[in-house]
Amino acid sequence: MEHSNKKYDIVVVGGGPAGLLAAGKAAMDGASVLVLEKMEKPCRKLRISGKGRCNITTTKPFDEFIEEVKPNGNFLRDALKEFFANDIISLLNAMGVATVEERGQRVFPASGKAWDVAEALIKWTKSLGVNIECHSSVTDIKAANSKVESISFSTKESRNSTTIGCSKVIIATGGKSYPLTGSTGEGHQLLANLGHTLTPLLPVLVGLNTQPKISDTKGLTLKNVKVTLISNGKTIEEEFGELEIMPYGLSGPTILKLSRNAVELLSKGKPCELEVDLKPALGPEKLFNRIERDIATFSRISAIELMRKLLPSEMAFFVLEETGIGGQKVASRLSKADIENIRDTLKRIVFKVKSSRGWDEAIITAGGVSLKEVNPKTMESNIVKGLYIVGETLDLDGPTGGYNLQIAYSTGWLAGKSAAHEIRTNEK
Ligand SMILES: Cc1cc2nc3c(=O)[nH]c(=O)nc-3n(C[C@H](O)[C@H](O)[C@H](O)COP(=O)(O)OP(=O)(O)OC[C@H]3O[C@@H](n4cnc5c(N)ncnc54)[C@H](O)[C@@H]3O)c2cc1C
Repeated sequence: MEHSNKKYDIVVVGGGPAGLLAAGKAAMDGASVLVLEKMEKPCRKLRISGKGRCNITTTKPFDEFIEEVKPNGNFLRDALKEFFANDIISLLNAMGVATVEERGQRVFPASGKAWDVAEALIKWTKSLGVNIECHSSVTDIKAANSKVESISFSTKESRNSTTIGCSKVIIATGGKSYPLTGSTGEGHQLLANLGHTLTPLLPVLVGLNTQPKISDTKGLTLKNVKVTLISNGKTIEEEFGELEIMPYGLSGPTILKLSRNAVELLSKGKPCELEVDLKPALGPEKLFNRIERDIATFSRISAIELMRKLLPSEMAFFVLEETGIGGQKVASRLSKADIENIRDTLKRIVFKVKSSRGWDEAIITAGGVSLKEVNPKTMESNIVKGLYIVGETLDLDGPTGGYNLQIAYSTGWLAGKSAAHEIRTNEK
């Protein structure tokens, strides 16, 4: 294949973490590699990851990692054996990016800058001789006799597409979330055109639109709460931790985690509710006693002031409204039934999940190219020879905590290794 008067063994589509790891590893193993990236620079999404800090990976053990990945973490066994958390940490350290491990076995750059991780990956790739061409949007891939034959792309300078012959293409175009970063799902379309099956694409790790709304809230974080996802009366999943109250509904770490199952249930037309326990550390009896104690200590305060001793202001109003008890009622006049009512509401507020937030707010795409159509030992397509599929384009997703970037590096690395190996084998 030829481009800019140079021949390339492998063309990588997409300059995100999966594409760069694929390109770097293939180059390391002797292949000449061209990366075609649609945006003005590679790794736009990685640069904003982890709230700009980039949760690079997780040091959770191998089996635990696999357990957390949906719909089938076992698909990743070979990729993770080739390249796991220690490997990306070593690679980044060697490129001058020091790393630190934080609570929850999350690894971050010591500088706290995702930008540093992106620049290090680009530098590493380029140092191995990879040519990265930005503003190059791949529009078509042609196959003949079930083998990759050519790739077409348009550039900023020329809207007329350029077609180059090639026998190895690695698709690393990401998912559909945060489309402004360049991940718009085009890769999925290219692959569907080549005969690949796509499982439904869903925005996950995302806030949820819920009812009732908590009025007057611009964004409030509640710590140490328990949130339970329920469908048709059945408990699906439980999470402890932070809950963010948003004008549209609920978000925060607990909700992002639960959103994976919630969005899937909604997509199947199933009902979905969230039960919030605002005081999970206190059992019903202890909580009743605590409220009684507060009333005895501050006998002259109103019901709303009593609630404010238990919750932030906006939440106190909301909870009291849910109980139907007037805010101005004197606390010492609350009956036993009133106190039980307050206690029960603190322990269980039910929110109906109407829908999820959209693609521009979702951290990850669930669904993608069916895993049945990709060889987990090489990442090569079972449908088109010479075509490799990696990263978020695949039907694989993990929770927050560094899993999704690790999936990108590991699948990219394995594809780069496999494609370069094929090139060398064919040369012999
Ligand atoms: C806000 C946010 C925060 C996140 N934080 C974390 C975190 O801290 N830790 C973590 O593990 N994960 C995090 N993730 C998820 C993680 O960033 C992604 O899973 C990961 O970037 C996927 O890597 P990828 O290489 O497969 O795809 P992407 O990073 O999406 O890269 C795909 C690339 O392909 C390019 N492209 C697309 N179509 C074409 C085309 N037709 N031609 C040429 N190029 C094309 C795109 O421009 C893009 O550069 C976060 C995601 C978001 C949105």
